[in-house]
Amino acid sequence: MVSKKLPAAIHLGLAAIFPLLLAALVHGSGSDKPKPAVNSASRQTSPADAEREAVAQRFVDQSLATWQTRLDLKDWNIKVNLVRPSALEPKTLGNIHWDLNTKEATIGVLSAYDYTLPTPAMLDDMEFTVVHELIHLHLASLPHTDASRMPEEHAVNEIARALLGLAKH
Ligand SMILES: [Zn+2]
Repeated sequence: MVSKKLPAAIHLGLAAIFPLLLAALVHGSGSDKPKPAVNSASRQTSPADAEREAVAQRFVDQSLATWQTRLDLKDWNIKVNLVRPSALEPKTLGNIHWDLNTKEATIGVLSAYDYTLPTPAMLDDMEFTVVHELIHLHLASLPHTDASRMPEEHAVNEIARALLGLAKH
């Protein structure tokens, strides 16, 4: 399920700190795709966990490069970071912050440390999040209100799903 919590507080908080920064909170998966379980405690991280995180970072960097080109967003300076749940809205898998003036954006994707999915499924999920966030960039100059949020999420999820389906055929 998509988070039902509205992001007003976060929007306001960011707006207060960075007046030019528009923030979109994002909700990775859409209503028909369950959120992967998140590890609860701060467990010890093993070398294998660290390697999985490194694999994931390389993968999202490559996904970003691929989809930034496909979506004709090469005029943006975009980076993607793996982030822990505390950096995301509850029940979300990613987010994006952008600045329309400088055309800079930063995508946050839930860290591999917090995924319990097997690595291939995790990477598919991360790619979905990257594509989802990039589609939001094309909508960045539209008005954003609490009322527009859920319809936009639905549309972005449908478009992302269609694009990824096409890319895999
Ligand atoms: Zn979204």
